[in-house]
Amino acid sequence: MNRDLYRDIHQNLGLRKVINARGSYTPFGVSRSSDLVAEAVGESLKHYFIMDELAAAAGQRIAAHYRVDDVAFAHCAAGALTMAVAAIMVGDDMDRLYGLPASSGINNRVVIQAGHLVNYGQPLEQAVRLAGAQVIVAGSEAGCSPGELDAALANDGVCALVCVESRLCKPGTVAAPAAVSTAHNRQIAVLLDGAAQDLRLPDLLSFGADITIVSGQKYFAGPTCGLALGRADLVRAMRLQERGIGRAMKPSKEGIIGALAAVEMRANLDMMAWTEEQQNKSMAFAAQLKQIRHLTATCVLDPTGLPFSRVRAVLDEKAARTTATDLVDALAQGDPMIAVQEHELALAALNFELVGLRADELAVLWQRLTTLLGP
Ligand SMILES: *Cc1c(COP(=O)(O)O)cnc(C)c1O
Repeated sequence: MNRDLYRDIHQNLGLRKVINARGSYTPFGVSRSSDLVAEAVGESLKHYFIMDELAAAAGQRIAAHYRVDDVAFAHCAAGALTMAVAAIMVGDDMDRLYGLPASSGINNRVVIQAGHLVNYGQPLEQAVRLAGAQVIVAGSEAGCSPGELDAALANDGVCALVCVESRLCKPGTVAAPAAVSTAHNRQIAVLLDGAAQDLRLPDLLSFGADITIVSGQKYFAGPTCGLALGRADLVRAMRLQERGIGRAMKPSKEGIIGALAAVEMRANLDMMAWTEEQQNKSMAFAAQLKQIRHLTATCVLDPTGLPFSRVRAVLDEKAARTTATDLVDALAQGDPMIAVQEHELALAALNFELVGLRADELAVLWQRLTTLLGP
């Protein structure tokens, strides 16, 4: 057993390090946990637990903090979504539960607005269909009116509406609070997927969905885990799914304990001070980028309302005699690999999310850009 292997995993396995300015991005390991969360996870791995008791106790602590009925855990948010859809479809009917994903004779239709059909690494729609549900798409990519949403919900056999809060959503959808009341007027349950929106969790909960789902590993920065907060009967039905299609999506003890530790850290976080710290970090980095030739940099607030800005740098491609695409490729080639947000390359813009970055990493990022674009 070579303990040293794990002291510097990158070095000893010959892996490149990553300076991740892309955000909470699954292919790069999502986030960086605090020592406290890592210790809690490490401790949990050394013990046996009665898993039902662990999930119930951790669920109740998180539920009390957010003032919801109860909390279910899954391996990740995508798993929580599939299990929540299954829970709504079959409740505590074990025959039906074991029969999934076959769902004939069950109200199995799930409405989703077209602008909410995001791909977070998997098409969201697939996580819903995996439960055996059929998706009814409301509206079009151009938008969905309240009338179109209500018409979709009026179809026979509709059991749920899935709403999504994500910067990947298209504009023009019915906002979550209005969508929730439209569905509730028809006695239809609402699942809200805000996997990467845990910094807005109190907001999300105020929208009144029956179950609200967040990831434990995005801005919460815990180990991989999905949290489903909401109605006690649905939470119970989600736990039952671990004996059915949810078997492959069940939470681990380290996931549950890590999620609890991450929630408790968040509860103790001075949000005002954190927000100010993030703002100072973004403004300082934008000012530094302005010193680099051919770049203009500004701070841009997160469009969904997360409490931080990203730095947007526009490259004068003509003067620099290179394109934003080539620049991003060059950043990605080196060691450490540097990853930035690429969704605005067509506008010659690179976007940097700095939340998970240390000062020494920002310095390397700045240095590499300076080297690539000339002093
Ligand atoms: C990240 C994300 C997911 C998936 O979360 P996991 O915890 O990785 O399964 C689902 N929905 C949205 C909107 C996301 O951003």
